[in-house]
Amino acid sequence: MRMWSALPLAVLMAVLVFGVTPVSTAEEATVAVSSHPSGAKIYVNGYFKGRSPTTVTVTSATSNPHPYTVTLMLPGFKTWRMGVDLAAGQHKALYAALERLPAPLQGRTVCIDPGHPSETSAGTSGPSGVTENHMNWVIALQLQSELEAAGATVVMTKSAEDEMVTNRRRAEIANEAGADIMIRLHCDAAPSRGFSIYYPDRQGTKYGVTGPSRSVIEASQAAAGPFYEGMRSVLSGSVPGRGVHGDSATYIGSKQGALTGSIFSRVPVLTIEMVVLTNAEDEAFITGESGQRKMVQALKAGLESYFRSL
Ligand SMILES: [Zn+2]
Repeated sequence: MRMWSALPLAVLMAVLVFGVTPVSTAEEATVAVSSHPSGAKIYVNGYFKGRSPTTVTVTSATSNPHPYTVTLMLPGFKTWRMGVDLAAGQHKALYAALERLPAPLQGRTVCIDPGHPSETSAGTSGPSGVTENHMNWVIALQLQSELEAAGATVVMTKSAEDEMVTNRRRAEIANEAGADIMIRLHCDAAPSRGFSIYYPDRQGTKYGVTGPSRSVIEASQAAAGPFYEGMRSVLSGSVPGRGVHGDSATYIGSKQGALTGSIFSRVPVLTIEMVVLTNAEDEAFITGESGQRKMVQALKAGLESYFRSL
């Protein structure tokens, strides 16, 4: 061991992990790893060793048994872990019955609120003239069918693109449906580009009503992070993230304490500024077919990420 200490660390690691330096077979142990379903990535002590079924060679075994952790990962299945003691010359077999992760949208009720027109605003528009109201509606319809196909119940806050619905009424529709979450789809007007998420970070008052409740504030805040990360995993490289912010950072929220749709909400509520529509690049993204598909997948990933976090 003293001699090894003089070796560069990288060489030492290579010996331990990959066995690229000749190692006597007496120091090897093997583990036959199989799983159902097959094709899972196999890691031993964090190092990738191949896909199941395969026989993994551990070259760092010694005459004394030493504990190793075997991990199997397959998308859509729970990560599987097993500790195994190995000594040089041993052969062991591991079988993993992988447990399917629950479909995160199955049985959920999602309220989609395509922003505008409301009592306060008709929404913004892009440099080429496309309206925010139109884009919110287009994405909402595509998202609705995507979520329904994944087993969710979808409640929409309006039934036609130009239907005027007050922000208070939008929240009431989500409440009456007992939605697991209300997502309010908007496009921003700003000097930069990208998507951002807003959640009620404190109570506000509108029409003499103070809300939302502490529990809705906490649940909305807890939803915002996972939702943002889910969106980012899809939009990365296409639309930059502009972060997660409190309602109080918005113009209306700074005056009322929270957005009106949040004040009246009794379910977790997020406002999603999908893009900055006043930015030509973002406008081109969301008016294009592939951009729309990506945005819908991003919103779906946000919901899945949120429901998985519960
Ligand atoms: Zn808007």
